[in-house]
Amino acid sequence: SDRPIARALLSVSDKTGLLEFAQALHARGVALVSTGGTARALSEAGLPVEDVSTLTGFPEMMDGRVKTLHPKVHGGLLAIRDDAGHQRSMQEHGIAAIDLLVVNLYPFEATLARAAPFDEMIENIDVGGPAMIRGAAKNHADVTVVVEPSDYDPVLAAMEANAGATTAELRRRLAAKAFSRTAAYDAAIGTWLSREVGEDAPAFRALGGSLAQTLRYGENPHQSAAFYRTAEARPGVATAVQAQGKELSYNNINDTDAAYELVGEFDPRRTAACVIVKHANPCGAAEAPSLAEAYERALACDPVSAFGGIVAFNRKLDAAAAREIVKIFTEVIVAPDADDEAKAIIAGKKNLRLLLAGGLPDPRAPGLSIRTVAGGFLAQTRDSSVVDDLDLKVATKRAPTEQELSDLRFAFRVAKHVKSNAIVYARDGATVGIGAGQMSRVDSARIAAHKAREAAEAAGLSRSGTEGSVVASDAFFPFADGLDAAIEAGATAVIQPGGSMRDAEVIARADEAGLAMVFTGVRHFRH
Ligand code: 5GP
Repeated sequence: SDRPIARALLSVSDKTGLLEFAQALHARGVALVSTGGTARALSEAGLPVEDVSTLTGFPEMMDGRVKTLHPKVHGGLLAIRDDAGHQRSMQEHGIAAIDLLVVNLYPFEATLARAAPFDEMIENIDVGGPAMIRGAAKNHADVTVVVEPSDYDPVLAAMEANAGATTAELRRRLAAKAFSRTAAYDAAIGTWLSREVGEDAPAFRALGGSLAQTLRYGENPHQSAAFYRTAEARPGVATAVQAQGKELSYNNINDTDAAYELVGEFDPRRTAACVIVKHANPCGAAEAPSLAEAYERALACDPVSAFGGIVAFNRKLDAAAAREIVKIFTEVIVAPDADDEAKAIIAGKKNLRLLLAGGLPDPRAPGLSIRTVAGGFLAQTRDSSVVDDLDLKVATKRAPTEQELSDLRFAFRVAKHVKSNAIVYARDGATVGIGAGQMSRVDSARIAAHKAREAAEAAGLSRSGTEGSVVASDAFFPFADGLDAAIEAGATAVIQPGGSMRDAEVIARADEAGLAMVFTGVRHFRH
């Protein structure tokens, strides 16, 4: 409810901005309750403050381990204001409502950062603080919870605008932050203590998520590893059920994810699609009327690399496709589902892992992508940009034909899932050459063309695989030389983000060669 804030409990280790905030609350007629050190700071500044031990009838004890753990505090935070039963309990036990909780925790992380001794670390584990934060956050329908000084001003601004009350929207936002804070705090403690006892698994768990599988080892045999599911349950490798085959390895899971995320870009109502992945990069992708044809065309792109690969489909696996796959060695098949005949065919290969994900990942869905760096991690929203939603701009004199445009979209869809620098040649809805992970875009373009030539030779084709193809680049061509490789390879159309300082030069080169080039305005780096 949006009642004005009448009573606040403040208990902070970091006293930044405390006095100004408390002063402003007091000026609005808010009664202040506080723990030892915080209360002292407030009364020294001349503010009237009730000590929490007066409230609880207990002194702070055991070196501060027990200060606020009392029904007068937790009842005041947790009572539902509109609930008659809760109101009766408050009256019966003399519990007064706490409308605003301001807590920041014992500085566990800062203590860890200065490599303090074990006992000091233990003393810096806050118990009452997180308990209060969680109580107030749970009851955010009635209670405002603040866990960092940067939120003092927004709370005051809301009170100013709402006759001393905060808004439900702000309370919910602060509650989300509060739970995230206590989660991170306990994760820091869990990680530290795991390291103290020399175990990685609990430390992994402390990062969040629930354990899905303990893995035999990580990317290499000397690394330990485990697989966790997060609350973000998008259909994918983490939701998949393993229908048969050997135990999944760390690399299997990583590669399967790459394959399934890409194949999810192909709407199963429009086309069947297949993606083959090796070392987290696609070595072939194709759309076709049937899964079996899509598989054959994806395989033809780079049959050498496809050996021991991960094969992903965007539709229920059928017998025709299954029959093709079992002809060569494959590590994993992943699909939304499989029919009984397909399952029976796969069962002939005991070790082959079959994963049924139950659905396809939605490429537009929000989500997080996280990677560790030394001493921290980087987090970003996932790349949910889809080429179909983009306004493609023709940059050259010649516009792409219908067929070229369809292939350009296809190639850009694939390029999004290829490690940068990514160059993808495609023709008739299939990749013909993929250049991945090079430090120079020209090298990626050359490798892609080279791979296409090899595949064409292996298939006994007279013309090079890139002849009459289109090409996608995950980022702009910084120089015209990247385009030269594509022209040499016989590509007729190009898709790229555009936006280079030398766009004019690149466009001129494309015009000279009679190429059609479109700009997406969106880049797909993937490192
Ligand atoms: P103060 O400086 O006011 O004495 O203490 C503030 C700190 O005490 C805050 O970081 C708050 O989270 C923490 N705190 C509040 N109640 C309790 C409690 O019952 N036990 C423990 N261990 N810490 C508490």
